[in-house]
Amino acid sequence: MHLARFPRVRLAHLPTPLEPLPRLSEALGVELWIKRDDCTGLAGGGNKTRKLEFLLGQAMVEGADTLVTQGAVQSNHVRQTAAAAAAHGLNCEIILEERTGSRAEDYVWNGNVLMDRLFGATIRRVPGGSDMVAELETTAADVRRRGGKPYVIPGGGSNAIGALGYVDCAREIVVQADELDMPIDRIVTATGSAGTHAGLVAGLAVMGADIPVLGIGVRAPKEKQEANVLKLARDTAALLGRPDAVTDDMVVADCDYVGEGYGLVDQAVIDALVLAARTDAIVLDPVYTGKAMKGLIALARAGRFENETVVFLHTGGAQGLFGYGSEIGPQL
Ligand SMILES: *Cc1c(COP(=O)(O)O)cnc(C)c1O
Repeated sequence: MHLARFPRVRLAHLPTPLEPLPRLSEALGVELWIKRDDCTGLAGGGNKTRKLEFLLGQAMVEGADTLVTQGAVQSNHVRQTAAAAAAHGLNCEIILEERTGSRAEDYVWNGNVLMDRLFGATIRRVPGGSDMVAELETTAADVRRRGGKPYVIPGGGSNAIGALGYVDCAREIVVQADELDMPIDRIVTATGSAGTHAGLVAGLAVMGADIPVLGIGVRAPKEKQEANVLKLARDTAALLGRPDAVTDDMVVADCDYVGEGYGLVDQAVIDALVLAARTDAIVLDPVYTGKAMKGLIALARAGRFENETVVFLHTGGAQGLFGYGSEIGPQL
């Protein structure tokens, strides 16, 4: 694989640190490390910045003047896209799906939404359950009618081009672990729109690194999530010129920790946020990394990671915490 062959716009502070989590490791009885993709830098950071480097690269090649994307109201992807557009003088049109049904003031206006507006993005809100692919096309058509040139980025930036960002992250993790003489037994990540998980799997497969990845689902049931990730991992490997590198057994998602649904917080998520914060001062978010940590904690306590060195990929999202201030704050 040779990533320099793909158009790329540098947006992230890379490499992100790979650090030990000494106090959380002790609390859970597992050797835990953390890959700090919450520190990618752009607008507070997060995993979408790596994907956007390749997506924006392609948008520039195509001469786009407007980025069009979509997400849930408190989407971290939308926030990072709005920031990338601002930094490169592009317009940004975003569609926010009222997916959780929350009408809380913080949820509707604070956190990521506050930053979307700060970066000057144009926001259109649609009801939960809307056909978001059709909504993207509607907005893109509007931009074209006005004489603009849209570049449509799918939800979460999850297509094969975006997933290249996580192919690069896989490479980065292996290089860092090799420098530390630290063999990694497993990587654990939240998995949603699938690009992060798929990019990691494709990157590790193409490198022949033989490190299993466990995705902890935040929305879809296991079968659907694994199918989405597998398809995208295969497409990504094909883009790298290695269409057969990814095999079915490489894609594993555990979707038992979603709780009531996407973006809905439960006590175990709050417990995970509190434990990470009060052991190693790690700030997680309620939608993605808090759910992934809820799963990691449960699996660690059930002995699933015995004698393993596990790397938790911190995909960011702390900005979204402020969208949940009125809900979580009283419980701390
Ligand atoms: C989008 C997101 C994820 C999930 O990544 P996908 O590539 O969509 O699966 C995880 N964590 C955070 C903080 C995110 O914003």
